[in-house]
Amino acid sequence: MMSVPSSAPSRPPAADATPRCAVCGTGSRQAPFRPEPPEQAPDLDLRPGEPVRSTMARWLQQCPGCGYAAPNITRAHPAAAQAVAAAPFRALMAETGYPPLARRFLAWAHVLEETGALHAAAEASLQAAWVADDLGKPELARLWRLDAVALWRSGPPLDAEQTVRVIDALRRAEAWEDAAATAEALGRSHPPEAVAQVVALEARLVAARDAGRHTVASALPPPARRPHVAHQRIAGRSESPRGESLLARLRRWLGHR
Ligand SMILES: [Zn+2]
Repeated sequence: MMSVPSSAPSRPPAADATPRCAVCGTGSRQAPFRPEPPEQAPDLDLRPGEPVRSTMARWLQQCPGCGYAAPNITRAHPAAAQAVAAAPFRALMAETGYPPLARRFLAWAHVLEETGALHAAAEASLQAAWVADDLGKPELARLWRLDAVALWRSGPPLDAEQTVRVIDALRRAEAWEDAAATAEALGRSHPPEAVAQVVALEARLVAARDAGRHTVASALPPPARRPHVAHQRIAGRSESPRGESLLARLRRWLGHR
């Protein structure tokens, strides 16, 4: 699942063709989106840094006819049309208490959940929470982070990197006990060094009841101490054979999505 979608078509459309919704067939003009790579460090939940951070309004297309939302609405899972026509999706579209951009991410999350892509649905729910963060809607952000956690946990087993994001979502939703227990369990599983650094930071933030936004740069040692860390890393080569920094790992994770 790509959270920062490329909308490059697989083949160029005919010059006079208006892109059509794969669910209902409504034609609409949708601006293509090709993001610049992030330059700033991501948040602990891997929300990208700027300049990508501010482009969420362009990550998904949404059909003006039926409300179907996706990175590319000219494509849809065979079961998407049924999900879009059903009462829960129509109710979501009519929910005027939700910010329209958040509703777009929730629409995509709903289709993903209904078609069995639970981890991707979690990602889209988390993105709705980011929209709520930006609009100063903490109660909605909390609700959608907890939805994301429930979806992550109802899907296939999570790897260490994904579990870090669960911990961060729980912390930012002020689910302190769950966050602390999940961080402790992950710490006991001997995760990779970069993950262990982030988990240690999460545990400190949870203990301090800090529900705020922090970037992965906070989990790195200050530059003046890097030579010392490099020395430790050489000494501990067997545990960290590639000597890969946390940021390098996170950049790689981001590149995968
Ligand atoms: Zn449509």
